[in-house]
Amino acid sequence: MAGGGIGGLTAAVALSRRGWRVTVCERASALTGIGAGIVLAPNALRALESIGLGPAVSAGEPLAGVLGLRTPDGAWLSRTGATASRYGPPATGLPPAPSTAAL
Ligand SMILES: Cc1cc2nc3c(=O)[nH]c(=O)nc-3n(C[C@H](O)[C@H](O)[C@H](O)COP(=O)(O)OP(=O)(O)OC[C@H]3O[C@@H](n4cnc5c(N)ncnc54)[C@H](O)[C@@H]3O)c2cc1C
Repeated sequence: MAGGGIGGLTAAVALSRRGWRVTVCERASALTGIGAGIVLAPNALRALESIGLGPAVSAGEPLAGVLGLRTPDGAWLSRTGATASRYGPPATGLPPAPSTAAL
């Protein structure tokens, strides 16, 4: 697997759980979290839960209020309240280090 970001690590864990022997090649000498944290959308939470990271992601804090995208005239394109009820668990905030550390 080229790259030890959340995508590469998630794919590596998923493949190894299916019996593949995976080597992750990461060019950075250390994996460090950037910014204040990461917001995991319902589909990302389900993907991480499906590879056994339910306990790690449930340690996060469900987002309070509504987060989303609006058009220039103010109409909602998407928002967390709508996706939570339609797609499952609410979007959850995690500090950056634990999410990659868990993987
Ligand atoms: C400021 C900011 C805030 C964000 N906030 C959120 C958020 O709240 N929620 C959310 O879902 N998404 C967020 N994103 C987007 C999210 O960070 C990215 O979608 C996600 O990190 C992409 O993961 P990735 O594993 O595909 O790529 P990356 O995280 O970029 O990882 C790629 C890895 O591959 C390594 N690499 C690259 N080339 C090579 C090579 N040739 N050989 C070996 N290693 C290599 C890199 O060093 C890197 O570690 C944010 C992005 C930014 C910039």
